[in-house]
Amino acid sequence: MGKQLQRSHRLVLVPCPYEGHLNPMLQLGTVLHFKGFSITVAHTIYNSPNPHNLPDFSFLPMPDGLSDRGVTSMDVVGDVLAVNENCREIFQRSLEKLKETQGEIISCIISDELMFFAEDVANNLKIPSIILRTTNAATSFARSGLVKLKEKGLLSQDTLSNELVPELYPLRFKDLLFSLSETLENFSAIVTKIYGKRASSAIIWNTVSCLEQATLEQIQQQCKVPIFPVGPIHMIAASNSSSLIEEDRSCLSWLDKQPHNSVIYVSNLGSLASVNEKEVTEIAWGLANSNQPFLWVIRPGSVHSSDWIELLPKGFQDDVGDKGCIVRWAPQREVLAHPAVGGFWSHCGWNSTLESLAAGVPIICKPCFGDQKVNARYVSHVWRIGLELEELKRRDIESAIRRLILHEDGKEMRARAKELKEKFEVCTRKGGSSCDSLNELVNFIMSFGT
Ligand code: UDP
Repeated sequence: MGKQLQRSHRLVLVPCPYEGHLNPMLQLGTVLHFKGFSITVAHTIYNSPNPHNLPDFSFLPMPDGLSDRGVTSMDVVGDVLAVNENCREIFQRSLEKLKETQGEIISCIISDELMFFAEDVANNLKIPSIILRTTNAATSFARSGLVKLKEKGLLSQDTLSNELVPELYPLRFKDLLFSLSETLENFSAIVTKIYGKRASSAIIWNTVSCLEQATLEQIQQQCKVPIFPVGPIHMIAASNSSSLIEEDRSCLSWLDKQPHNSVIYVSNLGSLASVNEKEVTEIAWGLANSNQPFLWVIRPGSVHSSDWIELLPKGFQDDVGDKGCIVRWAPQREVLAHPAVGGFWSHCGWNSTLESLAAGVPIICKPCFGDQKVNARYVSHVWRIGLELEELKRRDIESAIRRLILHEDGKEMRARAKELKEKFEVCTRKGGSSCDSLNELVNFIMSFGT
């Protein structure tokens, strides 16, 4: 704290309160603190970060209206809109107080792409602001492209299907929606809000040029403000884990006992998605029948109508014995870097996808919603470092695992994933594109003056 107050440039970070958004924002904060900035994190009380993991930061808690309910509604879009509504006033008052009572000069507000209110407050208080995007560039480009097709009258509601979108191979219409129940009108409204004209002075992107160069260039041509691709941020930030759920590290010693490239790491729901009893039964028998060792993350509450693993099929755990390890939450980046791990069955959240690529691990993709579907198509059809699992059926699961871990084409996917890992290492080293972009970002923020 004392160290921070001597630093003259303060940044206020405003993360969105979900694991996949919070982690990259805090990692960015760690990098920028290392570059000499003081950091304040303005966060909701719901899913608030643990300050003990980030002793150099100061924190500004904001009552959000969600935490009063005890649990959130699982209507993510509704919750995000509620946070935007409920935090606006308190955020503005807190910043005014910070300036008045502590004489703080805030160089810039960096807010998650979904925390629109922070941008409005920045505007009101005449503080520069920057957006952090925690999804990939392809998703943004494709969703905006779909809205343009609609505006030109080239889309009807019927086209939200399995068909390929013109000029957006390999994406199908159904890959681009936020959820399948969505109307095209709602979709356009949300896309315009997130990716349309914004008041911020720049965009920081948790992606990497060697993966998405062409898309980033196309976006930059249409976008009036500079874009800084500084990802994967976790490879640049030597940060402590900022996980909201306690990690079970015992799985690392279980991994130590498994042969190289043999284990399928299964974290197929991320921090938000869930499955029913029938689905968890298919997953369990698919894993058992593959006869490969598996490390399976079952997040508490992610199986409907149960607290944790009560609904696993009878006899399953005896059947697999030491071949399976089940945890509530894993130290994922360390797991992926472990030599025993030969493949990752993922829902393809953007963080998980980047973490897998950064570790050179090929992926079985079974996306649930949102940008995960775009990520899955890119993993399987563009970067060709994984395969798509169409249905949650035990036979399909068994054969996907065996194909990825044992078959020749799985080995080719692993080899391509390793090549990408090496490219990521070059990009995040001194002189690499992400490192250079980060330095340009620092100069850009400094140019605002204080
Ligand atoms: N994660 C973790 N342990 C687990 C499962 C997930 O630490 O057992 C982390 C993972 O490393 C990633 C984040 O949770 O950083 C999930 O983010 P992602 O964007 O992949 O998915 P989301 O949760 O947003 O759907």
